[in-house]
Amino acid sequence: MDTIIRPFDQPVEPKTEWNSPMFRLAQNQFLNAAQFMGLDDNLRDRLVFPQRTLLVSFPCRRDEYSEVETVFGYRVQHVLTMGPTKGGLRYHEDVNLGEVAALAMWMTWKCALMHLPFGGAKGGVRIDPSKLSRAELQRLTRRFTMEIFSMIGPDKDIPAPDMGTNAQVMAWIMDTYSQQVGHPVPEIVTGKPLVLGGAAGREEATGRGLVYLIEAAADHLGLDLKHATAVVQGFGNVGRNTAVFLAECGVQIMAVSDVSGGIHSPKGLALPAVIQYVEQNGSLAGYPDADHISNEELLELECDVLVPAALQNQITEDNAARLKCKMVAEGANGPTTLEADEILRERGIFVLPDILGNAGGVTVSYFEWVQNTQEFAWTLEETNHRLHTMLLEAFRRTLLRSQRDSIDMRTAALVEGIDRVAQAKLLRGVFP
Ligand code: NAD
Repeated sequence: MDTIIRPFDQPVEPKTEWNSPMFRLAQNQFLNAAQFMGLDDNLRDRLVFPQRTLLVSFPCRRDEYSEVETVFGYRVQHVLTMGPTKGGLRYHEDVNLGEVAALAMWMTWKCALMHLPFGGAKGGVRIDPSKLSRAELQRLTRRFTMEIFSMIGPDKDIPAPDMGTNAQVMAWIMDTYSQQVGHPVPEIVTGKPLVLGGAAGREEATGRGLVYLIEAAADHLGLDLKHATAVVQGFGNVGRNTAVFLAECGVQIMAVSDVSGGIHSPKGLALPAVIQYVEQNGSLAGYPDADHISNEELLELECDVLVPAALQNQITEDNAARLKCKMVAEGANGPTTLEADEILRERGIFVLPDILGNAGGVTVSYFEWVQNTQEFAWTLEETNHRLHTMLLEAFRRTLLRSQRDSIDMRTAALVEGIDRVAQAKLLRGVFP
């Protein structure tokens, strides 16, 4: 029986600049874990807010020359104690300061859980990239890079891809930064194209890592993946790669979805055909050989492994009681609310929490940064071997903490991460 964690004693002051539902989720997860571990009050009050926040507005000229749109962008660095900060860059029409701050805080715990020498950061631009031409996307990216130029740097803060951004966007950031300093600086971003110093295996690392962890969790639960089924929400970088690697393990993929909705086949989907269809048509809409369902229906399908790999706030108190899976393996950041966590815990559904589940991405980003700074490239085999070793160690640490303290996997992962940051903060002391 898991220990019941009481809600934290002190409500979070709701009127801070970062206030948003997602930031409150990140704060409340942290405060619950802090209370459970008896974290020093001074440290708790320091870590519950990000250290640095930059909010910019800037012009983006459309291809129609007379149209100039004002766009909002953000960069948040949560903790500067552990090393340079590290975190993705999100392009989405709903991005806001609270969301970016929440993602930065989760990056801190994730890097600490993985024993990476980074603090957490995140960035975002409030825009729908699917509505931009390639030229518009490039202009937007270069101007945003200049707006946050003073805050980023290979020893300061290193961006990477997240929702709505990709290797090409990283290449434009790398080029813009390099033009400013007068020489190439590949280590300013990770998730770059291979020819610019990208790491073999980075593109698929988040999905690959999640599947390594699902294998370890299945082993722990006594679940035979060769006879297992999975449902995946989101068919972008994380969702698609997770589905592909799960299928390689013999798992039958029953349903997948994207922003246009979901597709389901009771016999299992033919994944290569689905991928080919999305490549040709841009989305799952109209896929011929499956039933079409909504994203809400998809989450409630019967399966062994449910993989939320799209947006935050998907598994809530409204649907958690109706989930019919044995394991939730979180590829997305923040897909499960606090209330839903409680329901999953009571129902005995095993959760691979986001800060562990999707940590493969930042881990291989770390490998890429190491290779760039040493100017020496590793093989894909070396990368995957090291990724596997590090993720399994983090899984074992988390599981051990969860069993020893009778706490759920999310709290255990948070406690592992927070404890490491707290130790570092105490050792460095307060300046001045
Ligand atoms: P992506 O842009 O490549 O793909 C996102 C997918 O989600 C697309 O298929 C899109 O159609 C779908 N989607 C968007 N809105 C949706 C909705 N309302 N319902 C269902 N599906 C919807 O993004 P990604 O890089 O795969 O990121 C997905 C999640 O994984 C995010 O939460 C991100 O923070 C997290 N993550 C990504 C990485 C990485 O390496 N890319 C690493 C760690 C965590």
